[in-house]
Amino acid sequence: MTTSSQLFERAQRHIPGGVNSPVRAFKGLGMAPVFIERAQGPYLFDVEGQRYIDYVGSWGPMITGHADPDVLKAVHERVEKGLSFGTPTAIETEMADLICTLVPSMDMVRMVNSGTEATMSAIRLARGHTGRDRIVKFEGCYHGHVDSLLVKAGSGALTHGEPSSPGVPDALAELTITLPYNDIDAVRTLFAERGDDIAAVIVEPVAGNMNCIPPVAGFLEALRDVTDACGSVLIFDEVMTGFRVALGGAQAHYGITPDLTCLGKIVGGGMPVGAFGGKREIMAKLSPLGPVYQAGTLAGNPLAMSAGLTLLNKIRAPHFHERLADKVNQLCDGLEARARAAGIPLLTHRAGGMFGVFFTDQSAVDGFEQATACDAEAFRRFFTLMLEHGVYLAPSPYEAGFMSAAHSDDDIAHTLQAAEEAFARMAAA
Ligand code: PMP
Repeated sequence: MTTSSQLFERAQRHIPGGVNSPVRAFKGLGMAPVFIERAQGPYLFDVEGQRYIDYVGSWGPMITGHADPDVLKAVHERVEKGLSFGTPTAIETEMADLICTLVPSMDMVRMVNSGTEATMSAIRLARGHTGRDRIVKFEGCYHGHVDSLLVKAGSGALTHGEPSSPGVPDALAELTITLPYNDIDAVRTLFAERGDDIAAVIVEPVAGNMNCIPPVAGFLEALRDVTDACGSVLIFDEVMTGFRVALGGAQAHYGITPDLTCLGKIVGGGMPVGAFGGKREIMAKLSPLGPVYQAGTLAGNPLAMSAGLTLLNKIRAPHFHERLADKVNQLCDGLEARARAAGIPLLTHRAGGMFGVFFTDQSAVDGFEQATACDAEAFRRFFTLMLEHGVYLAPSPYEAGFMSAAHSDDDIAHTLQAAEEAFARMAAA
């Protein structure tokens, strides 16, 4: 049998760090990453035959569980017709119509191949639309590896200690203003001083890349106010939150309407897909209607559209998101109770189908500073013990957790039992 350690060793010969996305490397966790062979429902199965209850879900897309039979069937049927044509196809219109129905702030939408492409294109469009260069982002928010957005970023950039990456020209980074997440005063002060200079504000309406941090009351409202007043474009990066926090995304949950929205993950059903869209007036500036250029050889790929459409149609089922949120609450309540019983300081956040677990005695974690002040060593210990008990959590204290409709009461009970044992070991150490 080939082990994960052997595969990781071999992978490092020709792949930088042995991985095609940095957070997969388990850096700082003192072990080789687990190499997965297959997945089904809420479970991952590694190359050594070990089963794990999965709380990553391919970082978000697997909201109905892995290898969803309906999604697989749609892809199988579609694959017989050919993989890609580089022409318009009817299924792209079906996808656009469905997205614009589910997310009413989107009058028009363009499909791309990743979340990164979605945010990159949205920023270009906002700049082209306003004729301004400066953009605002928030510390600890991650919007993909776009040059302008890799400034004080979260996710793997934060885990690996490079929130502002070398290779991003100063001339570009200088155009990105970063503010503390959830700091309404900082937003109002900046806009009072130079709002007329700002092309766009891009924000994760629930931050999911410095662990999971929901917006404080009034934060998203303030962003809407100041951008409206100054003619700046408000971009919600709902790559993670879209169709997960609620069917209509975080914007439906919090009742704030952005100008542009970026989507990814669920919209592709597990295939490489992103999308961006919004107000007709802005989207009409996009080529070939308008002058702002953006394109993609494989954009709107029929296989990816069939996977995404099938998944989106499934999660429109009545009460789907309420049931998912119930599962998240069951898990988080259980974790908090068991940690309390063991004397481990722990706090959880929940937002629909996503959650965060913080090892901290702080009373609240509302932003980057508090998130990075949490006990990273306690996380490392917890992660390792949970993995030993067959529970796969995101391998970083700066990532959100994801649940799916496939997680059963038994899976949650098993997870809580594992956590109870892990907390006992941690308390004894
Ligand atoms: N925006 C957000 C909020 C994300 O969480 C991510 C990826 N986790 C991205 C953008 C980038 O998406 P991708 O990895 O598909 O490029």
